[in-house]
Amino acid sequence: MRLTRYFLPILKETPAEASIASHRLMLRAGMIHQSSAGIYSWLPMGFKVLQRLEQIVHEEQQRAGHIPMLMPTLQSADLWRESGRYDDYGKEMLRITDRHGRDMLYGPTNEELITDIVRNSINSYKDLPKTLYHIQWKFRDEVRPRFGVMRGREFYMKDGYSFDVDEAGALHSYNRHLVSYLRTYERMGLKAIPMKADTGPIGGDHSHEFLVLAETGESEVFYDSRVLDMSLGDCVIDFDDVAQCQDIFDEFTTPYARTDETHDDAIFSDVPENRRMSARGIEVGQIFYFGTKYSESMGADVVMPDGSRKPIEMGSHGIGVSRLIGALIEANHDDKGIIWPESVAPFRVGLVNLRQGDEAADAACDSLYSGLVKAGLDPLYDDRDERAGAKFASMDLIGCPWRITVGPRGLKNGVVELTSRRTGETVELSPEDALARCVEIYADV
Ligand code: ATP
Ligand code: MG
Repeated sequence: MRLTRYFLPILKETPAEASIASHRLMLRAGMIHQSSAGIYSWLPMGFKVLQRLEQIVHEEQQRAGHIPMLMPTLQSADLWRESGRYDDYGKEMLRITDRHGRDMLYGPTNEELITDIVRNSINSYKDLPKTLYHIQWKFRDEVRPRFGVMRGREFYMKDGYSFDVDEAGALHSYNRHLVSYLRTYERMGLKAIPMKADTGPIGGDHSHEFLVLAETGESEVFYDSRVLDMSLGDCVIDFDDVAQCQDIFDEFTTPYARTDETHDDAIFSDVPENRRMSARGIEVGQIFYFGTKYSESMGADVVMPDGSRKPIEMGSHGIGVSRLIGALIEANHDDKGIIWPESVAPFRVGLVNLRQGDEAADAACDSLYSGLVKAGLDPLYDDRDERAGAKFASMDLIGCPWRITVGPRGLKNGVVELTSRRTGETVELSPEDALARCVEIYADV
């Protein structure tokens, strides 16, 4: 993309309404525009990042064997009356009446809708297990929407629903989700720690929230510092392998890690003191096995081999896709701007022409630009007629992980500069080598 043809409304002033870095930087970098409290338009660059995250979530869900679909945002209140949640949900639910006087709502989540679909189409134990998911907008009329996309009223969520014949199957689905979430966050360059979560009125042991450590996080968390060293890395995972998923689950959930809701001082005090940490965290996902809560109240059951009928064992599993952008920026920025991890960067390489209009500089930039496009590296070419300082400031703000700087002086010696946004390190290379180096950097991303 050439910057002169793009829509990137960068703000010079720091917006007064934004109290945390990610919100400030998303507004300054022209990623979002508030349309009303907790509701945002996603401007082109914000939308690009959202799509990158969505793509990673889709790939990892499907790698785990989960099936994509799409349910609507508006739902009928009748389904929620069946499960008993229409009255329980309270003011967070946005209720709407259509022209025929029918009660509707903007979905805050989809357990009822998916249970209705499954009860109508699945009848036998032979049709299970299945995990269906979608990535769709949700609405929760939060009392205090704040921190930009971090706590919005309208937000984008991946929500998946697992359906199994028995508890053992459901626990494998649960573990499979935990492992696929670990992979998902790792691919985004994020450390998200699974922490034992409260299961609320449904009870049971099986809920984990994934938290990204950040001073601005809304949750108080307690953990054994060992969790910080754990990663899946290149581990090859067979998501059908029950024992492997269980082992990974055990490995990642054995060290102490809990939010204040489940924190237990007596157990925590067994962790060696030098590893006992408390901090703030941002919840970027949650998995939940809740048994037959919805299948029983809504009549979603299957015929078993002996002819009896059995309610389906269910779980629901969510990733806060739009909130993740805030969490990513909280974890990856400095005072100049955003520092995108390579895998989620809206533009992978920034190209800066130090002297627009200089024949040699323009020609070198044009050739690098088409080379980068051809290599699929999605460059952003700052071809504005601006001072070098202003171009660098914009590039630093929007956070392309790599920047190629082209100027007449360097070209006389046959070189351009390649700079890492994260380390600031710069190397001089021929334009061809700079391009080849970028291709190499992104080869595994
Ligand atoms: P919170 O405790 O932060 O209100 P929640 O536990 O109610 O969130 P879930 O029902 O677990 O949320 O939803 C799954 C994911 O959706 C959360 O882990 C979070 O990342 C995201 N999410 C929930 N509420 C919001 C919101 N208001 N704005 C943005 N993302 C949200
Ligand atoms: Mg949650």
